[in-house]
Amino acid sequence: MDWEMVVGLEVHAQLLTDTKIFCGCSTAFGAEPNTQVCPTCLGLPGALPVLNRKAAEFAVMVGLATHCTVAPVSRFARKNYFYPDLPKGYQISQYELPILEKGWLEIEDDEGRPKRIGITRIHLEEDAGKLLHPEAGRGGADHSLVDLNRACVPLMEIVSEPDLRSPREAAQYVRKLREILVYLGVCDGNMNEGSLRVDANVSVRPRGQERFGTRTETKNINSFRFLEQAIAYERERQIEVLEDGGQVVQETRLFDSERGVTASMRSKEEAHDYRYFPDPDLLPVAIDGAWIEAAARALPELPEAKRARFREAYGLPAYDAELLTASRALADYTEAAIAGCGDPKAVSNWVMGPLLRELGKEGAPPVERAPVTSAHLAALIGLIRAGTISSSAAKEVFDAVWATGRRPEEVVAERGLTQITDTSALEAAVDAVIAANPAEVEAYRGGKGKLLGFFVGQVMRQTQGKASPGAVNELVKRKLG
Ligand code: ADP
Ligand code: MG
Ligand code: ZN
Repeated sequence: MDWEMVVGLEVHAQLLTDTKIFCGCSTAFGAEPNTQVCPTCLGLPGALPVLNRKAAEFAVMVGLATHCTVAPVSRFARKNYFYPDLPKGYQISQYELPILEKGWLEIEDDEGRPKRIGITRIHLEEDAGKLLHPEAGRGGADHSLVDLNRACVPLMEIVSEPDLRSPREAAQYVRKLREILVYLGVCDGNMNEGSLRVDANVSVRPRGQERFGTRTETKNINSFRFLEQAIAYERERQIEVLEDGGQVVQETRLFDSERGVTASMRSKEEAHDYRYFPDPDLLPVAIDGAWIEAAARALPELPEAKRARFREAYGLPAYDAELLTASRALADYTEAAIAGCGDPKAVSNWVMGPLLRELGKEGAPPVERAPVTSAHLAALIGLIRAGTISSSAAKEVFDAVWATGRRPEEVVAERGLTQITDTSALEAAVDAVIAANPAEVEAYRGGKGKLLGFFVGQVMRQTQGKASPGAVNELVKRKLG
């Protein structure tokens, strides 16, 4: 039997607001447990939530970037369940009236054709607290600890249509989505630290069948590699169950990254189990056209548009454009360097080569704080273009600027790296080499043309590599010819 897989993703993005979604507590990461809390996020009776305007602004930006409709009126709802990390006994989320609906993102399918993946809805909600399970004694402690610093931190849940058909398509969709969120500055996109969490709904059906199969939802996926692994594992597992004559159970499963498998966690709860109802403590969110227009004007250039501009305005290859726009900061750096020296391809080569190599090393600063600034790089390229330094000296200058943060011109002067372009000085060096090697001169004139390299090498040595090899070549030929 030929099986087709169907995947829909639920992505939770933690928003980069300074304060929580319904109170003024800080969202800063890493504070002592339970120090960033107040009556509202502790769920104390009588404390009233107020929506953080920034969270709504972020939602509007994301909506515009993902072709969603922004709801003129949306509403918060209570999702009721009990868990020790949820002091109120309900999570404030959105249900029938989410802030955003009906968008799409474009990816490439496995044959390389463009494909739109529908976004069903995007809504805002609060995060829960965090449980810690101390490992006291051999059998573990007999209690757990609760940290409510994370309670009420804003999350955006982005729910896709079941339009994805392979692990690769799913990973690509999350990459595109993540790129947009990071470009907009609404989420740091860190999957490893849980700022971006992906739950994968997977089902299989005989190819050609219209009706979807029963799905499972897999959680605890914290990298792109694990996302592909988890989805591929679920596909194989479900096919095996069905081919053995069994039935897929609708359930929530957990991905075990060490073993590369998923395991059943709990049977899937239905929406009605949560007893959703509109939260009477919060007003409906009204977003008018003027707000949307202002957000559209303030929207930064998105990755796809930037990529196209890098190809068209700077004449860069698609490969370069893709790499250089991987983050807004890297793209800004590149553009500043291009503006400073006027040579896009040279900038691209230096950024994709030496710069990214340094930035990729452990403990390296982010590109915004690279010791070789975009102005330094532009100056360095200017020195090469003017013939002041050779390209081999340029690499040495780059490394020295990276190590010291000093200006390229200073490094060149200090280390005496200026190329000898002064012909009289070069001529003197060539004359000296000719005078010192009469036997080779005779052999060369007698037809041993290969000796040219020997003379050039000698001159280069005498000038400590500061002569331009091209110029030396010319001079030696002329003098011996
Ligand atoms: P819930 O909130 O209970 O998880 P939703 O209806 O919101 O359920 O769907 C969640 C996700 O599951 C969506 O991304 C949707 O595309 C996906 N999905 C729904 N049905 C299937 C299916 N049969 N196979 C794969 N994914 C599915
Ligand atoms: Mg769900
Ligand atoms: Zn609070």
